Parts: sequence; C-alpha cells; structure tokens
Amino acid sequence: MTWSNQVAVVTGGARGIGRAIALLLAKRGAAVCVNYAARADAAEQVASEIEGKGGRAIAAGADVADFRAVQVMIEQAETQLGPVTILVNNAGVSHQATLDTFDYEQFDRMRRVNADGIIHATRAAMAGMRTRRYGRIVNVASIAAIGTALPGNAFYAATKAEAAILTRRFAMELGGDGITVNAVAPGFVRTDMTQGKRSADEWEAIEKNLAERTMMRRIGQPADIANAVTFLAAPEAGWVTAQMLVVDGGRMDYIGHS
Ligand code: NAP
Repeated sequence: MTWSNQVAVVTGGARGIGRAIALLLAKRGAAVCVNYAARADAAEQVASEIEGKGGRAIAAGADVADFRAVQVMIEQAETQLGPVTILVNNAGVSHQATLDTFDYEQFDRMRRVNADGIIHATRAAMAGMRTRRYGRIVNVASIAAIGTALPGNAFYAATKAEAAILTRRFAMELGGDGITVNAVAPGFVRTDMTQGKRSADEWEAIEKNLAERTMMRRIGQPADIANAVTFLAAPEAGWVTAQMLVVDGGRMDYIGHS
C-alpha cells in the first residue's frame, strides 16, 4: 500500500480540525471524501481546494447520527473515488452543561453524534476493509476523556470517553482483519467549536489561560491534530493499534490543582 492508492473519508471534514485532516491526507496523496452535516458550501470549498492542487475529492452530506445516511455516503465515496481505506471519525459537537443545567435532549443529540457517529461510520466502512484485509480507522476523541477539568464539559467528556473505549474495543474486533483502530485526543485547539460566540477579549483571555497550562505554552492549531491523525492513517502505521495519542502541547491541569 502507498499513499497514492488510499481513499479517505473524513467526517466533519469541512471545517476546523476535519478540514486540516482532509487537506493533509490529500497532500499525502489520498483521495478524500469530505463529509459535512450542514455546511455544504464549506465542504465543496475543501474539495475544490484539493482538486485545485491536482488531488481527487468529493463533498458528501450525511448526518453521522443517521446510520442509513452514513451507509449511503460510504457507497458514494466508493463509487466516485474507489475502495475506502481510511476512515477518520472527526465529526463532533459540544454542548456545555453542568449537573444543574443538564438537558437530556441536548446530551442525547451530542452522544448520538460523538459516539454513535463512530459506530455508524465504522460499521458502514468495515465490510469493504475486511474484504480487502486493510484499513486505517482514526477517531478524534479529546483530552476531556481523560480528565481535564474545563467547567461545563462533563457530559461532552463522557461522550469522548465513549469514543476512547470504542477505539480500543473496535481495534480488538477488527485487528484480525488487518484493520487498525486508533484515536487522537486533542487538547484545546482554535476552531469554530472553541471560538464559538466568544468576543475577541474573551478569546484572548481563554487562549492565554489555556496556553499557560501547557508545557509548550500555546494552544493547538488544527494542523497539529492533522499531523497526528495522518501518522496513524499512514500505510506504515500497520502495527500501531488500540492507541490514543494525546496531542495537547503537554497539558498540566488534569487534576485541577493549578
Ligand atoms: P468544529 O469547528 O465545530 O467542526 C465540527 C465539524 O463536525 C463540522 O465540520 C461539522 O459539520 C461536523 N459535524 C457536526 N455534527 C455533525 C454530524 N451530525 N454529522 C456530520 N458532521 C457533523 O469542531 P472542531 O473543533 O474542528 O472539532 C472536530 C473534532 O475534534 C470534534 O470531534 C471535537 O469534539 C474534537 N475536539 C476538538 C477540540 C478543540 O479544541 N477544538 C478539542 C478536542 C477534541 P458542518 O460543517 O456541516 O456543520
């Protein structure tokens, strides 16, 4: 296997971390299916950027919480680009809540995207990977899954802990078929998810606060995460499985004593 015969599906590949992953996989030589939920315009723009540089890409809409929609997307990727060899489960949402403000509907929706989305896309992609006895699956979890103490993140953290254990268990199930399953756990990265509706002043304060909690003294950029994902997705990474690679600049606040 070489990079030039890889076909990658990147869920939530239109913006933020997913966009950086899609662009870097394409730079390595993979054809890329750029999945989106709502922002078709952004996904088309990523696909055009890849094609403009001589690569192959399509934009494909599918809500990862909807298994049938994900199946159709994988079929579309295989028809238009070829057999899917790489699946990056990056799509995610974050709803902030505490025990006092917990809302079941919001939590359920977040869990269906962040955790069920991984199950759906893995199930949709695994048959072809099994037949060809080759696959690379990379899940985007979060350091929230391993105990960072950002207020309001408890329920989001629970969905990411689910992503972490699914990674390990799916690796056990699929290893015998030549498929690796790993995760990357990003720290705090500048994207729409983290910038949200924060004012410039609020952003400056949170960036400064979180940068000081890292050994590298900065927050992350989407490319920092894309580099790690691309390593785990590489043909050469065939003996790395069931791992969660933390990419957070060396966070020092896991136990909240700072
Ligand atoms: P983002 O900028 O908000 O982008 C999220 C992406 O996910 C968007 O492209 C969005 O699609 C897509 N998406 C959301 N719901 C979806 C659904 N139901 N089906 C398909 N796609 C869906 O977020 P980000 O910061 O890049 O986050 C990417 C991943 O990294 C997430 O799993 C997140 O939890 C994780 N993460 C982020 C950070 C961080 O600091 N940013 C830290 C740790 C982990 P549309 O464009 O169509 O809306």
